[in-house]
Amino acid sequence: MMTWETVIGLEVHVELATKTKMFCGCSAAFGGAPNTHCCPVCMGLPGSLPVINGEAVRLAIRAALVLGCRITENTRFDRKNYFYPDLPKAYQISQLYSPLGRDGALVIDLGEAGKKTVRIHEIHMEEDAGKLIHAADRPETYADFNRCGVPLIEIVSEPDFRTAEEVSAYLMRLCDMFRYADISDCKMQEGSLRADVNISVRPMGEDCLGTRTELKNLNSFKAIERAIAYESARQIRVIEQGGVVEQETRRWDDVAGVSLGMRSKENAQDYRYFPEPDLPPLRISAETVEELRASLPEFAHERVERFGREYGISAYDAGVLCAARSFADLFEATVRTGADAKSCANWMLGPVRKRLNDVGASEASIRLSPAAFAALIERVAEKRINRAAAITLLEELLLSEQGMGADIDALIAERGLAQISDGGAVAQAVEDVFARNPAAIADYRAGKKRAEGFLIGQTMKAMGGRADPAAVKTAVGEALRRLLEDK
Ligand SMILES: [Zn+2]
Repeated sequence: MMTWETVIGLEVHVELATKTKMFCGCSAAFGGAPNTHCCPVCMGLPGSLPVINGEAVRLAIRAALVLGCRITENTRFDRKNYFYPDLPKAYQISQLYSPLGRDGALVIDLGEAGKKTVRIHEIHMEEDAGKLIHAADRPETYADFNRCGVPLIEIVSEPDFRTAEEVSAYLMRLCDMFRYADISDCKMQEGSLRADVNISVRPMGEDCLGTRTELKNLNSFKAIERAIAYESARQIRVIEQGGVVEQETRRWDDVAGVSLGMRSKENAQDYRYFPEPDLPPLRISAETVEELRASLPEFAHERVERFGREYGISAYDAGVLCAARSFADLFEATVRTGADAKSCANWMLGPVRKRLNDVGASEASIRLSPAAFAALIERVAEKRINRAAAITLLEELLLSEQGMGADIDALIAERGLAQISDGGAVAQAVEDVFARNPAAIADYRAGKKRAEGFLIGQTMKAMGGRADPAAVKTAVGEALRRLLEDK
C-alpha cells in the first residue's frame, strides 16, 4: 500500500479596508442596495478613466510588509481580459509582470507540532468583480456591480502546506495580523477574505509535484478543511485506479460535500494580459516603505507572549484579551492607570466580555475610559462598592458616551451605592430579617441548609444591595450558629 502526501498552495484574496474603490470615488462598503455604489469608471463606460487610490496602495504595501515581502520599487498595473457577466468592463486591472511584493514568508503556529514557515511567492494589487445573484424562485440571474472595483490584494503562497490544519493556521494568522494592522476586516462571511486552494498528491518521498487542481468557492474554514480532505482522497483514488488527474478548476459544493469539475485551468496567456494603458507606472520610494514599516503595530501573537511575561496572564486568557486590538489596548491603558493587571484581566474576561456577548456588541464599540474602568476595579478592591453594584455601573457605562468621562466616585455617591461596612448596621439587618422570616429559621433548624442562602439574600436585599456580601454571609452564619446553640 503506497503512502501519499498532499501538497497544498493557497491564493488568498483580501479586500482592503478603504472607504472608496481602487480606481474611483465610489463607496467600497459591503452591501448597499444593488448598483448604488457605481459610477462610469467602475461600470467601465467608454471615455472614463481610472485614478489610483493612494490609501489602497499604502494598505497593500503594509500587507506585503506584514508578510515579509520585498517591495517592488517600480511597479505597474496590467489588464487581464476576460468576459464574465459580473465584470462590465470585460477586463480586470491587476498585476502580472511586476507584482507589488515578492519572496515573503509567514511563520505559523501549529501548537504541539511547533512552528512552520510558509513561503509567500508574491502579493499583487487588483480590483474586485461584481456579484451575480441567482433568484431562487425564478429563472433570472441579477447583476450587482457594487463590488466592482473594490480594492483587493492577492497573496500567492508556495506549495508549502501538507495538511488542512496548516492551511487553517495560516489563514487565521493572516486574518489576525491584517485586522491588527487595519488592512482588512477579513470577514469570510462577507467575502472580504476568500481562498482558492491548489491541491496535488504525490507518493511520500517524491520530489516532483503531481498535477494540481484548483478548488474555488470556499467560504469558511470548515469548507476548506472538508474540501482538502475530499479532493486529496479523490486524486489518490484516480491514480490508484490507473487514471490521470486532470489540471482543472473545480467548484466545491459544501452542501453535497463534493468537488465538481468546472473548466480546464487557464494559463496566463488565456487572459491576453498587457500593461494597463490608462494608468501610469507606480514608483514606491524607500522612504514610503520605511515609513509604512515603522507604522506596523505589535501583533496579537507577539502581544500574547508579552502579556504572559509582563503580567503573568495565561496564554489562553491573553489570547482572548488580544483577539481584538482595541480590547488589548483597553486592558493595557487601564493597567497603566494603576489597576491591578490580574483583576483587570478578570473583569475584562468576565463581566465585560459577558456584556458584549449579551448585547451583541464588538470590542470596538466600548466607550468606557481606562481611568473610569480602573477606578471601578479599585473601589471594589477597597470594598467601597460591592461587586454586584460595580457590575451594574459597568454595564451602564461600558458602551455609552457617558463612560468616556465618567467620575466613578461621584456616581457612587450620587446613586448611594457605597458599600455599608458598618458591622452594627449589618447585625441590625440580620436581626430584622430573622424576625420577619420565622419559617426559614424553622427550616434551618429542621436541617434544611438551603434556608441559609435565602436569609443571606434577604439581608442583602434589606440593605439595598450595598452590603459587603462576605460580611453578610459571615454575620448570617454566626447568627444561625448562635440560634442552634441557644436551643
Ligand atoms: Zn465608481
